[in-house]
Amino acid sequence: MARLGNTGIEVSKLCFGSLTLSSFQANLSVREGAKLIQYAYDKGIDFIDTAEIYENYSIIKEGIKNIPKDKYTIASKAYSYDVKTAQDSVAKAMKELSVDYLDIFLLHEQESEHTLRGHYEALEELFRLKEKGYIRSVGISTHFVNCVKASEKYKEIEIIHPILNYKGIGIQDGTREDMVSALKRRHEQGIGIYTMKALGGGHLISHQKEAMEWVLEQDFLHSTAIGMQSTEEIDYNTHLFFQGKENLSAKESIDKKERKLIVDDYCIGCGNCVRRCKQNGIEIIDGQATPNENCILCGYCATVCPDFCIKVV
Ligand code: SF4
Ligand code: SF4
Repeated sequence: MARLGNTGIEVSKLCFGSLTLSSFQANLSVREGAKLIQYAYDKGIDFIDTAEIYENYSIIKEGIKNIPKDKYTIASKAYSYDVKTAQDSVAKAMKELSVDYLDIFLLHEQESEHTLRGHYEALEELFRLKEKGYIRSVGISTHFVNCVKASEKYKEIEIIHPILNYKGIGIQDGTREDMVSALKRRHEQGIGIYTMKALGGGHLISHQKEAMEWVLEQDFLHSTAIGMQSTEEIDYNTHLFFQGKENLSAKESIDKKERKLIVDDYCIGCGNCVRRCKQNGIEIIDGQATPNENCILCGYCATVCPDFCIKVV
Protein backbone atom coordinates (compact mmCIF):
# COMPACT_ATOMS: atom_id res chain seq x y z
CA MET A 1 0.00 0.00 0.00
CA ALA A 2 1.11 3.57 -0.58
CA ARG A 3 -0.21 6.88 0.67
CA LEU A 4 -0.92 9.38 -2.11
CA GLY A 5 1.21 12.22 -0.77
CA ASN A 6 -0.48 14.28 1.92
CA THR A 7 -4.00 13.36 0.83
CA GLY A 8 -4.38 10.57 3.39
CA ILE A 9 -5.67 8.26 0.64
CA GLU A 10 -4.03 4.83 0.69
CA VAL A 11 -3.93 2.80 -2.50
CA SER A 12 -2.27 -0.25 -3.96
CA LYS A 13 0.96 0.44 -5.87
CA LEU A 14 -0.78 -0.92 -8.95
CA CYS A 15 -3.85 0.92 -10.22
CA PHE A 16 -6.34 -0.61 -12.66
CA GLY A 17 -6.24 1.60 -15.76
CA SER A 18 -9.78 1.17 -17.02
CA LEU A 19 -9.45 2.82 -20.44
CA THR A 20 -8.87 -0.68 -21.83
CA LEU A 21 -12.39 -1.69 -20.76
CA SER A 22 -14.02 1.03 -22.86
CA SER A 23 -15.99 0.57 -26.05
CA PHE A 24 -13.19 2.06 -28.17
CA GLN A 25 -10.65 -0.40 -26.73
CA ALA A 26 -11.46 -3.96 -25.54
CA ASN A 27 -15.20 -3.21 -25.71
CA LEU A 28 -16.02 -5.62 -22.87
CA SER A 29 -19.58 -6.12 -21.72
CA VAL A 30 -20.53 -4.79 -18.28
CA ARG A 31 -20.45 -8.35 -16.95
CA GLU A 32 -17.01 -9.18 -18.41
CA GLY A 33 -15.45 -5.89 -17.31
CA ALA A 34 -16.95 -6.12 -13.82
CA LYS A 35 -15.57 -9.64 -13.39
CA LEU A 36 -12.07 -8.35 -14.20
CA ILE A 37 -12.36 -5.51 -11.66
CA GLN A 38 -13.46 -7.94 -8.95
CA TYR A 39 -10.70 -10.39 -9.97
CA ALA A 40 -8.12 -7.60 -9.74
CA TYR A 41 -9.42 -6.58 -6.30
CA ASP A 42 -9.10 -10.18 -5.08
CA LYS A 43 -5.47 -10.02 -6.25
CA GLY A 44 -4.80 -6.82 -4.29
CA ILE A 45 -5.67 -3.96 -6.69
CA ASP A 46 -7.88 -1.57 -4.72
CA PHE A 47 -7.47 1.49 -6.96
CA ILE A 48 -9.05 2.19 -10.36
CA ASP A 49 -8.56 5.09 -12.74
CA THR A 50 -11.34 6.13 -15.09
CA ALA A 51 -12.60 9.27 -16.87
CA GLU A 52 -15.89 10.68 -18.05
CA ILE A 53 -14.73 10.22 -21.64
CA TYR A 54 -14.12 6.46 -21.12
CA GLU A 55 -17.89 5.93 -20.68
CA ASN A 56 -17.32 2.91 -18.45
CA TYR A 57 -18.88 4.01 -15.14
CA SER A 58 -21.52 1.25 -15.52
CA ILE A 59 -18.79 -1.42 -15.68
CA ILE A 60 -17.06 -0.03 -12.59
CA LYS A 61 -20.33 0.27 -10.66
CA GLU A 62 -20.98 -3.41 -11.30
CA GLY A 63 -17.36 -4.37 -10.57
CA ILE A 64 -17.28 -2.76 -7.13
CA LYS A 65 -20.76 -3.70 -5.97
CA ASN A 66 -19.47 -6.35 -3.53
CA ILE A 67 -16.48 -4.29 -2.33
CA PRO A 68 -16.92 -2.02 0.73
CA LYS A 69 -16.60 1.59 -0.47
CA ASP A 70 -13.95 2.45 2.12
CA LYS A 71 -11.76 -0.38 0.85
CA TYR A 72 -11.64 0.87 -2.73
CA THR A 73 -10.39 4.08 -4.38
CA ILE A 74 -11.87 5.46 -7.59
CA ALA A 75 -10.20 8.27 -9.52
CA SER A 76 -12.06 9.95 -12.36
CA LYS A 77 -11.46 13.01 -14.50
CA ALA A 78 -13.26 15.34 -16.88
CA TYR A 79 -12.72 18.35 -19.12
CA SER A 80 -14.63 20.72 -16.81
CA TYR A 81 -13.84 24.39 -17.36
CA ASP A 82 -16.29 26.30 -15.14
CA VAL A 83 -18.52 25.88 -12.10
CA LYS A 84 -21.38 24.22 -13.94
CA THR A 85 -19.30 21.75 -15.94
CA ALA A 86 -17.39 20.77 -12.78
CA GLN A 87 -20.64 20.23 -10.86
CA ASP A 88 -22.20 18.30 -13.76
CA SER A 89 -19.20 15.99 -14.18
CA VAL A 90 -19.00 15.21 -10.46
CA ALA A 91 -22.76 14.62 -10.25
CA LYS A 92 -22.67 12.34 -13.30
CA ALA A 93 -19.79 10.29 -11.88
CA MET A 94 -21.47 9.91 -8.48
CA LYS A 95 -24.80 8.94 -10.02
CA GLU A 96 -23.46 6.48 -12.60
CA LEU A 97 -20.99 4.90 -10.16
CA SER A 98 -23.70 4.88 -7.49
CA VAL A 99 -21.45 6.35 -4.79
CA ASP A 100 -22.09 9.23 -2.39
CA TYR A 101 -18.56 10.61 -2.69
CA LEU A 102 -15.65 10.38 -5.14
CA ASP A 103 -12.15 9.66 -3.90
CA ILE A 104 -10.20 11.54 -6.57
CA PHE A 105 -11.38 13.90 -9.26
CA LEU A 106 -8.97 15.39 -11.80
CA LEU A 107 -9.06 17.98 -14.55
CA HIS A 108 -8.28 15.89 -17.63
CA GLU A 109 -5.38 16.58 -20.05
CA GLN A 110 -4.07 19.84 -18.65
CA GLU A 111 -1.24 21.28 -20.73
CA SER A 112 0.35 24.37 -19.21
CA GLU A 113 0.05 27.25 -16.82
CA HIS A 114 -2.20 28.83 -19.44
CA THR A 115 -4.70 25.93 -19.47
CA LEU A 116 -4.64 25.72 -15.68
CA ARG A 117 -5.51 29.41 -15.49
CA GLY A 118 -8.24 28.90 -18.09
CA HIS A 119 -9.75 26.04 -16.06
CA TYR A 120 -9.28 27.66 -12.67
CA GLU A 121 -12.99 28.20 -12.12
CA ALA A 122 -13.53 24.44 -12.42
CA LEU A 123 -10.55 23.68 -10.20
CA GLU A 124 -11.88 26.01 -7.51
CA GLU A 125 -15.32 24.42 -7.73
CA LEU A 126 -13.85 20.91 -7.41
CA PHE A 127 -12.04 22.11 -4.31
CA ARG A 128 -15.31 23.52 -2.91
CA LEU A 129 -16.97 20.16 -3.58
CA LYS A 130 -14.12 18.57 -1.68
CA GLU A 131 -14.77 20.85 1.28
CA LYS A 132 -18.43 19.83 1.16
CA GLY A 133 -17.42 16.15 1.30
CA TYR A 134 -18.25 15.09 -2.27
CA ILE A 135 -14.61 14.55 -3.26
CA ARG A 136 -11.67 13.49 -1.12
CA SER A 137 -8.91 14.89 -3.29
CA VAL A 138 -8.49 17.06 -6.40
CA GLY A 139 -5.82 17.17 -9.09
CA ILE A 140 -4.88 17.07 -12.76
CA SER A 141 -3.77 14.65 -15.44
CA THR A 142 -1.14 15.83 -17.90
CA HIS A 143 1.37 14.87 -20.60
CA PHE A 144 3.38 18.09 -20.08
CA VAL A 145 6.41 18.76 -17.87
CA ASN A 146 5.58 22.46 -17.79
CA CYS A 147 2.13 21.71 -16.46
CA VAL A 148 3.61 19.66 -13.61
CA LYS A 149 5.83 22.65 -12.82
CA ALA A 150 2.96 25.16 -13.10
CA SER A 151 0.78 23.08 -10.75
CA GLU A 152 2.91 24.37 -7.85
CA LYS A 153 0.99 27.63 -8.01
CA TYR A 154 -2.34 25.97 -7.22
CA LYS A 155 -3.00 24.81 -3.68
CA GLU A 156 -6.10 22.99 -4.97
CA ILE A 157 -3.93 20.46 -6.85
CA GLU A 158 -3.09 17.63 -4.47
CA ILE A 159 -2.68 14.82 -6.98
CA ILE A 160 -0.92 14.62 -10.35
CA HIS A 161 -1.53 11.85 -12.87
CA PRO A 162 1.26 12.29 -15.45
CA ILE A 163 2.40 10.25 -18.41
CA LEU A 164 5.70 8.52 -17.67
CA ASN A 165 7.54 5.49 -18.99
CA TYR A 166 11.13 4.45 -19.40
CA LYS A 167 11.43 5.79 -22.96
CA GLY A 168 9.58 9.03 -22.23
CA ILE A 169 6.97 8.18 -24.90
CA GLY A 170 4.09 10.66 -24.98
CA ILE A 171 5.72 13.44 -22.94
CA GLN A 172 4.91 16.49 -25.05
CA ASP A 173 7.47 19.08 -24.00
CA GLY A 174 10.56 17.40 -22.64
CA THR A 175 12.46 14.26 -21.87
CA ARG A 176 11.83 11.50 -19.41
CA GLU A 177 14.42 13.07 -17.12
CA ASP A 178 12.70 16.47 -17.30
CA MET A 179 9.44 14.84 -16.21
CA VAL A 180 11.13 12.83 -13.45
CA SER A 181 12.79 15.93 -12.06
CA ALA A 182 9.53 17.95 -12.06
CA LEU A 183 7.64 15.09 -10.41
CA LYS A 184 10.30 14.51 -7.76
CA ARG A 185 9.97 18.13 -6.71
CA ARG A 186 6.18 17.83 -6.44
CA HIS A 187 6.62 14.55 -4.54
CA GLU A 188 8.80 16.34 -1.99
CA GLN A 189 6.02 18.91 -1.61
CA GLY A 190 3.56 16.20 -0.55
CA ILE A 191 1.69 15.80 -3.84
CA GLY A 192 0.20 12.37 -4.61
CA ILE A 193 1.57 10.96 -7.87
CA TYR A 194 0.20 8.06 -9.89
CA THR A 195 1.31 7.65 -13.47
CA MET A 196 -0.14 6.41 -16.73
CA LYS A 197 1.22 4.68 -19.86
CA ALA A 198 4.04 2.70 -18.26
CA LEU A 199 4.04 0.66 -21.48
CA GLY A 200 3.85 3.73 -23.70
CA GLY A 201 0.26 2.95 -24.67
CA GLY A 202 1.43 -0.42 -26.01
CA HIS A 203 4.60 0.68 -27.84
CA LEU A 204 6.82 -0.80 -25.14
CA ILE A 205 5.20 -4.21 -25.06
CA SER A 206 8.26 -5.74 -26.68
CA HIS A 207 10.34 -4.15 -23.84
CA GLN A 208 7.78 -5.00 -21.21
CA LYS A 209 10.23 -6.29 -18.60
CA GLU A 210 12.53 -3.25 -18.79
CA ALA A 211 9.57 -0.86 -18.83
CA MET A 212 8.02 -2.40 -15.73
CA GLU A 213 11.33 -2.64 -13.89
CA TRP A 214 12.01 1.02 -14.54
CA VAL A 215 8.64 2.07 -13.14
CA LEU A 216 9.14 -0.08 -10.04
CA GLU A 217 12.48 1.60 -9.36
CA GLN A 218 10.95 5.12 -9.22
CA ASP A 219 10.23 5.58 -5.54
CA PHE A 220 8.51 8.95 -6.02
CA LEU A 221 5.62 7.14 -7.76
CA HIS A 222 2.91 6.24 -5.28
CA SER A 223 1.00 4.13 -7.79
CA THR A 224 1.03 3.23 -11.48
CA ALA A 225 -2.07 2.86 -13.63
CA ILE A 226 -1.78 0.05 -16.13
CA GLY A 227 -4.50 -0.86 -18.57
CA MET A 228 -5.58 -4.47 -18.24
CA GLN A 229 -8.11 -6.47 -20.17
CA SER A 230 -7.59 -10.12 -19.16
CA THR A 231 -6.98 -12.20 -16.04
CA GLU A 232 -3.54 -13.13 -17.45
CA GLU A 233 -2.52 -9.46 -17.56
CA ILE A 234 -3.81 -8.95 -14.02
CA ASP A 235 -1.88 -12.01 -12.81
CA TYR A 236 1.31 -10.83 -14.45
CA ASN A 237 1.10 -7.26 -13.18
CA THR A 238 0.05 -8.12 -9.63
CA HIS A 239 2.83 -10.68 -9.41
CA LEU A 240 5.34 -8.08 -10.50
CA PHE A 241 4.08 -5.19 -8.39
CA PHE A 242 3.28 -7.06 -5.22
CA GLN A 243 6.04 -9.65 -5.18
CA GLY A 244 8.88 -7.61 -6.66
CA LYS A 245 10.75 -7.40 -9.92
CA GLU A 246 13.20 -10.09 -8.84
CA ASN A 247 10.28 -12.46 -9.39
CA LEU A 248 9.86 -11.36 -12.97
CA SER A 249 11.54 -13.99 -15.08
CA ALA A 250 11.16 -14.51 -18.78
CA LYS A 251 9.06 -17.54 -17.97
CA GLU A 252 6.64 -15.53 -15.89
CA SER A 253 6.23 -12.75 -18.41
CA ILE A 254 3.22 -12.98 -20.64
CA ASP A 255 2.85 -12.56 -24.32
CA LYS A 256 0.93 -9.33 -24.33
CA LYS A 257 -0.80 -8.73 -27.59
CA GLU A 258 0.65 -5.86 -29.62
CA ARG A 259 -2.02 -3.17 -29.72
CA LYS A 260 -2.69 -0.95 -32.68
CA LEU A 261 -5.05 1.76 -33.88
CA ILE A 262 -7.18 0.78 -36.81
CA VAL A 263 -9.26 3.05 -39.01
CA ASP A 264 -11.99 1.42 -41.08
CA ASP A 265 -11.95 2.17 -44.79
CA TYR A 266 -15.33 3.93 -44.65
CA CYS A 267 -13.53 6.92 -43.01
CA ILE A 268 -14.80 10.08 -44.73
CA GLY A 269 -11.65 12.09 -43.98
CA CYS A 270 -13.52 14.73 -41.93
CA GLY A 271 -10.42 15.41 -39.77
CA ASN A 272 -12.21 15.37 -36.38
CA CYS A 273 -9.75 12.77 -35.12
CA VAL A 274 -6.76 14.84 -36.27
CA ARG A 275 -8.06 17.91 -34.41
CA ARG A 276 -8.81 15.85 -31.27
CA CYS A 277 -5.38 14.19 -31.05
CA LYS A 278 -2.94 16.12 -28.87
CA GLN A 279 -0.05 13.84 -29.80
CA ASN A 280 -0.03 14.56 -33.55
CA GLY A 281 -0.61 10.84 -33.83
CA ILE A 282 -2.95 10.76 -36.84
CA GLU A 283 -3.12 12.57 -40.16
CA ILE A 284 -5.23 12.57 -43.29
CA ILE A 285 -3.46 10.90 -46.18
CA ASP A 286 -5.29 10.44 -49.49
CA GLY A 287 -8.56 11.34 -47.79
CA GLN A 288 -8.24 8.72 -45.03
CA ALA A 289 -7.21 9.10 -41.41
CA THR A 290 -3.87 7.36 -40.94
CA PRO A 291 -2.13 6.85 -37.57
CA ASN A 292 1.62 7.50 -37.34
CA GLU A 293 4.46 6.70 -34.92
CA ASN A 294 3.41 9.45 -32.45
CA CYS A 295 0.17 7.64 -31.60
CA ILE A 296 0.09 6.39 -27.98
CA LEU A 297 -3.08 4.34 -28.54
CA CYS A 298 -5.20 6.27 -26.05
CA GLY A 299 -8.21 5.95 -28.33
CA TYR A 300 -9.47 9.45 -27.53
CA CYS A 301 -9.82 10.23 -31.26
CA ALA A 302 -12.37 7.42 -31.50
CA THR A 303 -14.77 9.41 -29.32
CA VAL A 304 -15.13 12.16 -31.94
CA CYS A 305 -15.45 10.04 -35.07
CA PRO A 306 -18.95 10.56 -36.51
CA ASP A 307 -18.82 7.15 -38.22
CA PHE A 308 -17.24 5.11 -35.39
CA CYS A 309 -14.35 4.15 -37.69
CA ILE A 310 -11.56 4.10 -35.07
CA LYS A 311 -10.68 1.34 -32.64
CA VAL A 312 -7.69 0.29 -30.56
CA VAL A 313 -7.40 -3.47 -30.96
S1 SF4 B 1 -4.20 9.15 -32.85
FE1 SF4 B 1 -5.91 8.75 -31.44
S2 SF4 B 1 -5.23 6.99 -30.23
FE2 SF4 B 1 -3.40 7.88 -31.19
S3 SF4 B 1 -2.60 9.33 -29.68
FE3 SF4 B 1 -3.95 10.48 -31.05
S4 SF4 B 1 -5.95 10.48 -29.98
FE4 SF4 B 1 -4.69 8.85 -29.04
S1 SF4 C 1 -13.01 11.29 -37.36
FE1 SF4 C 1 -13.50 9.30 -38.28
S2 SF4 C 1 -14.38 9.79 -40.29
FE2 SF4 C 1 -13.33 11.65 -39.55
S3 SF4 C 1 -11.26 11.50 -40.44
FE3 SF4 C 1 -11.15 10.59 -38.41
S4 SF4 C 1 -11.52 8.39 -38.76
FE4 SF4 C 1 -12.16 9.45 -40.58
